[in-house]
Amino acid sequence: MPGPVLVAVEDDPEALCNIERELRDRYAPGYRVECLRSPHEARSRLEELAASGDEVAMVLAGHWLSGMTGSELLNEARHLHPHAKRGLLIGWGDWGDRDTGEAIFESIAEGRIDHYLQRPSGSPDENFHHAVSSLLLEWTEATRASPHAIRIVGDSWSGRAYELRDALERCAIPHNFCLADSENGRALVAQAGDGARLPLVVLPDGRVLIDPTNPELALAAGSPVNPERMDFDLLIVGAGPAGLSAAVYGASEGFSTLVVDQGGIGGQATSSSLIRNYLGFPRGVTGRRLAQDAYTQAWIFGAKFAFMQRATGLRRDTDELLVHLSDSGPVSTRAVLLATGAHYRRLGVPALEALNGAGVFYGGPTTEAPATAGRDVYVLGGANSAGQAALHLARYAARVTLVARAASLEAGMSHYLVRQIEATANLEVRLGTEIVGGGGDGWLEQLVLRDREDGTEETVAADGLFLMIGARPHTDWLPAEVDRDERGFVLTGADLGDGDSRPRDRPPVLLETSMPGVFAAGDVRHGSVKRVASAVGEGSAAIQLLHRLFAEHGVEPRGRAKEPASLAGR
Ligand SMILES: Cc1cc2nc3c(=O)[nH]c(=O)nc-3n(C[C@H](O)[C@H](O)[C@H](O)COP(=O)(O)OP(=O)(O)OC[C@H]3O[C@@H](n4cnc5c(N)ncnc54)[C@H](O)[C@@H]3O)c2cc1C
Repeated sequence: MPGPVLVAVEDDPEALCNIERELRDRYAPGYRVECLRSPHEARSRLEELAASGDEVAMVLAGHWLSGMTGSELLNEARHLHPHAKRGLLIGWGDWGDRDTGEAIFESIAEGRIDHYLQRPSGSPDENFHHAVSSLLLEWTEATRASPHAIRIVGDSWSGRAYELRDALERCAIPHNFCLADSENGRALVAQAGDGARLPLVVLPDGRVLIDPTNPELALAAGSPVNPERMDFDLLIVGAGPAGLSAAVYGASEGFSTLVVDQGGIGGQATSSSLIRNYLGFPRGVTGRRLAQDAYTQAWIFGAKFAFMQRATGLRRDTDELLVHLSDSGPVSTRAVLLATGAHYRRLGVPALEALNGAGVFYGGPTTEAPATAGRDVYVLGGANSAGQAALHLARYAARVTLVARAASLEAGMSHYLVRQIEATANLEVRLGTEIVGGGGDGWLEQLVLRDREDGTEETVAADGLFLMIGARPHTDWLPAEVDRDERGFVLTGADLGDGDSRPRDRPPVLLETSMPGVFAAGDVRHGSVKRVASAVGEGSAAIQLLHRLFAEHGVEPRGRAKEPASLAGR
């Protein structure tokens, strides 16, 4: 029988019987369900399936099995079937047991299991099915097995075919790729008919696009490219977490809202394969899913979007603000939210890039720090931000190593931080050193350090790596009226300080820039936390502040207003 396999193992016969019934009743039409009574049997079956190339979508294992724990078995399953989702089955109330709770926490943190599920009891048990279908959805997305995926056919992995994949990736649109001389590729080229040139794109509804431009591709996939109208209450530049959150709140508060992005939705969040620290998603959420859902939510509230459009200029025109776009005329708006994020310098070590979010983190350790308790962690960077991160981590971790390329810390770090670092017993500094390799099985385990002077390499055990090697904000296009710090991040509210001597009727409110009516939220803002949750929080807070300003200045949102009023505040 064809189809991916669902494996479950429990040594309690009654529990196994319940699991088997629930799995077969609901999933048998699309999956092969195999339920096994012992970890020994499960291990041999998983080995057989791996040897025969059968696809395993999910493995569920009871917490206490004879001879080994469920999480040990699931850890073994990960080696045999790296894509399979792994769930630990527990009984009702087991989470209250200290040992079980600790075991679950440790197993998830170390990547041995994806999550835990409560064993089914009555039938149908929708809680059980909710957990199972979430795991299966993640598996479908990770393996690009979605029936709605766009298929790209090219004659090589690089060139234009790569650019098309990248454009779809940036729009968070499911897609997969095949080479023209593969079996699938030949079938798709034949389907496209005579005269089809490569690369070609086959849409889920059967339409074929021959070497489309990025905007043509976005448009065909249902992503708007041009603004529907040219005047709005609020124009948001950037459709990352900050921009999407502002779009949801702006549109739901009745502002006519346009979001423009030079790519698609999700910003940097789409490069995170699993965001585990976002409120309300105990199993974690992929950046792509979060972006897609936020986009749908904003769209349902009436926000308009224009993708593949770069904001190239911003100026005031009497009472309005004008935003110039790369591929359409200037759009007039009463307020602007800058949510353009920042571009992080990447380490460029593929084995470590693959562990992004699994022990390897870009940016500071704001939320991850407590989880490093008792562990051995590394920080890469030589500037103040790296020093602060290392000191913060040293409060939790057993040992912190600050790795810097420079021969001395003084070159890039404030003196007070250098002194604090020297005085911190569990903080070691490795100067003149770079990180050139590393890896781990589902979670970072080791790093390869290279001495820049003599080229010697050393492999060290590591549980965490925080990369603070520089971020550049997308702010080059802004006018001089928008004040920025020395690295280009936008100053807002109190950060504008007393040095701002421009005449104005009112001081800038929180999150407002030096240009009245222009706000900034998320990574682009000086002093922001550089996390999804804080970007989302700032995006929504900007809307509340804007609402207050509109009310104070008698500005009615365009949807409701007859006579437009001004927010310029000068
Ligand atoms: C690899 C990686 C993994 C991460 N993992 C996590 C994690 O697990 N948890 C977590 O909390 N945080 C994580 N982060 C950080 C998180 O992704 C960012 O803090 C968050 O995305 C910031 O959101 P933002 O909306 O401010 O900016 P961004 O996400 O950077 O979005 C900015 C958007 O603006 C657009 N843009 C820029 N300039 C222009 C212009 N001129 N015109 C039009 N559009 C423009 C860009 O195309 C982009 O879509 C990760 C970051 C990286 C790089």
